Amino acid sequence: MSRLDSFIRRMMAQRDVLNHVAADLELPAQGAVLELGLGNGRTYSHLREIFPGRRIIAFDRALAAHESSIPAPGDLFLGEIRDSARQFARQDAAVVHADIGTGNAARDALTLEWLPALVADLLGPGGIGVSGLPLQHPRLEPLALPAAVPADRYFLYRRR
Ligand code: SAM
Repeated sequence: MSRLDSFIRRMMAQRDVLNHVAADLELPAQGAVLELGLGNGRTYSHLREIFPGRRIIAFDRALAAHESSIPAPGDLFLGEIRDSARQFARQDAAVVHADIGTGNAARDALTLEWLPALVADLLGPGGIGVSGLPLQHPRLEPLALPAAVPADRYFLYRRR
C-alpha cells in the first residue's frame, strides 16, 4: 500500500472512530475532551464540531496549528504531554484522544511507557479513550471499533 493510501485510511479511521464516540457511545454527563497532540488542529477542529457543549483542551510540544484551529489560551498547554497533561489527572475527562504515534517503532515504544497510565489517570469513570497507539492498562477496557475501521488501525477504550 502506498503511503498516501495508508495516510488516507488512517484519517478515515480517525474520523469514523471519533464520530462513533460522539454519536453512539454513552459518555459521562460532565467532563472535558482532551486532545493529546494538537498538530495542525484537524482533529481538534472535528472535536469542536462533534462535542459542541464540552470544553476541549489541547496539548502539544509547540503550536503549529492552522489559525482557525488554535484553542483559547486557557485551553492550550505546550510542552511534553507526559508533564503538561499531568495537571488534569483525576479531573475526570469524558474523552481523551491521543494522536501522538509516529510510525517509528522505537519512538512509539518510549511513548507507550507512560501514555497508557496517563490516559487512565486523565479519564473519569466511564470515560472514553481514543488512540492511534494501543494502550494496555488494567483500567482501560478495549471496546469494539465501528465496522468500517479495520482492527489495529485505531484503538478505543472505556475507563473502568
Ligand atoms: N491530531 C492532529 C491533527 O489532526 O492535526 C495531528 C497530531 S500529529 C500526528 C502529533 C502531534 O503530537 C505533533 O504535533 C507532535 O508535536 C505532538 N507530540 C507527539 N508526541 C508528543 C509529546 N510527547 N509531547 C508533546 N507533543 C507531542
